[in-house]
Amino acid sequence: MSEIETQVIHAGQKHDAETGAVMQPVFQTSTYAQPWPAKHTGYEYARTHNPTREALERCIAALESAEHGVAFGSGSAATAGVLQTLPEGAKIVAGDDLYGGTYRQFTKVFAKRGMQFRFADLTGDLEAAIPEGTTLVWFESPTNPLLKVTDIRAVCARAKAVGALVAVDNTFATPIFQRPLELGADLVVHSTTKYLNGHSDVVGGIVLTRSDALYEGLRFVQNSIGAVPGPWDTWLTLRGLKTLAIRMDRHQSNAKRIVSWLCEHDEVTRIHYPMLESDPGYAIACKQMSGFGGMVSFVLKGDLDRAEKFCASTKLFTLAESLGGVESLLELPASMTHASVPAEQRAALGIDDGLVRLSIGIENVDDLIADLQQAMDISR
Ligand SMILES: *Cc1c(COP(=O)(O)O)cnc(C)c1O
Repeated sequence: MSEIETQVIHAGQKHDAETGAVMQPVFQTSTYAQPWPAKHTGYEYARTHNPTREALERCIAALESAEHGVAFGSGSAATAGVLQTLPEGAKIVAGDDLYGGTYRQFTKVFAKRGMQFRFADLTGDLEAAIPEGTTLVWFESPTNPLLKVTDIRAVCARAKAVGALVAVDNTFATPIFQRPLELGADLVVHSTTKYLNGHSDVVGGIVLTRSDALYEGLRFVQNSIGAVPGPWDTWLTLRGLKTLAIRMDRHQSNAKRIVSWLCEHDEVTRIHYPMLESDPGYAIACKQMSGFGGMVSFVLKGDLDRAEKFCASTKLFTLAESLGGVESLLELPASMTHASVPAEQRAALGIDDGLVRLSIGIENVDDLIADLQQAMDISR
């Protein structure tokens, strides 16, 4: 099998049989002609089958060393797709540091439908965190915005011991740097909105698995609930994927340079990036990741006002939620993504008022550093 840098370009795709088109065509159709009643080409109706979507599913499945991919209209729909395959009364143990939308879906949508959720620190005692009777363990690693790293192999071993499935949201790491199915997970979930598409122009999601049985369940949900992505969005994501390997390489080298610069900076009091030997996630990250990605967060000296002024003063870094695009973004969790969390709870989680999250793009890194420096100067 070829290496991942080759797979991002070729996996799951072939030249069009009829025309030789090198790129996967966009099948912008809702239905397919049938030569005879109930005899069809394998394609009847586009909620069920779309060749552009299928190429995307095959490609990302190959990257995650999965057998199957099931694409959804957003990362959140992919998350819901997994939960909708679970039995009534399922017991879910979720990491305590989750994407806000996932937390909201668990507690406000599925908890009302008879599922039980327990939020646990999966970097601590796993026997206590994952009790007998657990149906599914769900977590992210690294997490948002503190880049906390969970030992995927250890969680999978404990989950297997109690008969639970494991789903890992691999949005931050991408399969370039981490492949949870190879570490024992049953399901991988992505918001393809982020790095996989990488150009901040599509919302999408996907679930990957090696299990035929889990795939059957997911396909049933995909078709029967119908939260499918459209052909253009899947095509744009396929196109974006072609540069995933070189993008991640540049995201990471830029991140490393910026982290080194932040480490020397006297306006910065703390840095979260698992590449740093002083980071609590360093040893596990080295075991399970082949790179550390382009997400970095740090605490700026001073109060919330100063941090807000800093975030409003960058010129290249755009102040925005989301992440993983070619362009650099920054956000202030205390005022933006985590504003709904009470201040004391934020402090307990480690989300200080001065915590700034960077999604480091692929621009020239000296330009990025100069931008951060001028915003520090202006906001002082
Ligand atoms: C954005 C995100 C999601 C949700 O994906 P959408 O495509 O916005 O629905 C889930 N998990 C993580 C880690 C994310 O960053």
